[in-house]
Amino acid sequence: MSILNKKTVRDVDVSGKKIIMRCDFNVPMDKEGNITDDLRIKGALPTINYLLENGASIILMSHLGRPKGEAKPEFSLAPIAKRIAELVGKEVFFADDSDVVGENAKQMAANLNFGEIMMLQNVRYRKEETKNIENFSKELASLGDVFINDAFGTAHRAHCSTTGIANYLPSAMGLLIEKEITIMGTAVEKPEQPFVAILGGAKVSDKIGVIKNLLDKVQVLIIGGGMAYTFIKAQGYEIGNSLLEEEKMDLALELIRTAREKGVHLILPVDTVIADEFKEGANYKTVDIKKMPKGWIGVDIGEETVKLFEDIILSAKTVIWNGPMGVFEIPAFAEGTRKVAHLLSLCDGTTIIGGGDSAAAVEQLGYAEKMTHISTGGGASLELFEGKILPGIDILESK
Ligand code: AMP
Repeated sequence: MSILNKKTVRDVDVSGKKIIMRCDFNVPMDKEGNITDDLRIKGALPTINYLLENGASIILMSHLGRPKGEAKPEFSLAPIAKRIAELVGKEVFFADDSDVVGENAKQMAANLNFGEIMMLQNVRYRKEETKNIENFSKELASLGDVFINDAFGTAHRAHCSTTGIANYLPSAMGLLIEKEITIMGTAVEKPEQPFVAILGGAKVSDKIGVIKNLLDKVQVLIIGGGMAYTFIKAQGYEIGNSLLEEEKMDLALELIRTAREKGVHLILPVDTVIADEFKEGANYKTVDIKKMPKGWIGVDIGEETVKLFEDIILSAKTVIWNGPMGVFEIPAFAEGTRKVAHLLSLCDGTTIIGGGDSAAAVEQLGYAEKMTHISTGGGASLELFEGKILPGIDILESK
């Protein structure tokens, strides 16, 4: 059954109901506890506003960080409740219970009036949460009438608040998950062609499933970033001290062969920026990929490689991108990632950034507005690209 057939909040009668809604408010914070990027909080606003406009009351829940089953104040959701109140322009009652569903939460939920919002404490304060143990799912379910999952960033996890609770309440997805899977699910299930995938980042091992699944769908697969060097070495070339997963070299050759058999144009870097040290201020230069000297480290794709991508990206009808092209955290090695982001910003087709580091790069480099979609879930979008079923969506009722 396709995830595109699942019920959304629009298919449920929410009027006069208490909606318990799972969001992904796992936002980055600085040492003082200030929220440094509220993209994920803003992502939940369409569903919150929809529910308020349609006469529901809302009980919000989320995790933040990894408190590992203990009530640790540094992982409190209090600052998140405050930010939501500012964004919605309405008070958000915060049930600060160390056991999440405690006396405060129960009383607040019982007294919650339509149009009001309350928020539970960090669901990962409870050790049952990540183990998906029944008792906590039931406790959560007892607070509301309908479960809405809008936490795309944790949709690939089967936890009490993402799947367990759906066993006890009518359920549907929120508008953020709907948007994420409509855009990304459609791209992967029925892409407009030419369909180009760009994969980068550190490890081949993280992306094997994605590469295999995409080889059946894309016309072009571009591989850059640290993972490219394992492919280069597997073909017999020197890669110096670049990132290498030796045990994945055979697999890399197999993937190159499979791509050829399936008629997929698999593009690897033809030149690379190399550095003598893995840090800001290191000496660096660009060399032919087949002439990498010993002792140097590959840190970015080179200009010739970017040129190779240009026509392909500009003429694509669908592009998905996951993983930076180089060590973009160091400005001198961010050029390849920046240029790929720039090319995507000029592409007229559907451009999808699959969360995580590439989303951070696109935002940091100022191209966010130019993309069709930037996913709020790195891990979840990768699993979607892999063709995996996301448990937090699979569990929801079908239309
Ligand atoms: P991932 O989480 O797999 O998408 O990997 C993202 C990380 O890959 C970023 O922190 C990048 O700095 C890193 N990365 C990209 N290119 C390289 C490279 N050539 N060598 C080492 N790390 C890299």
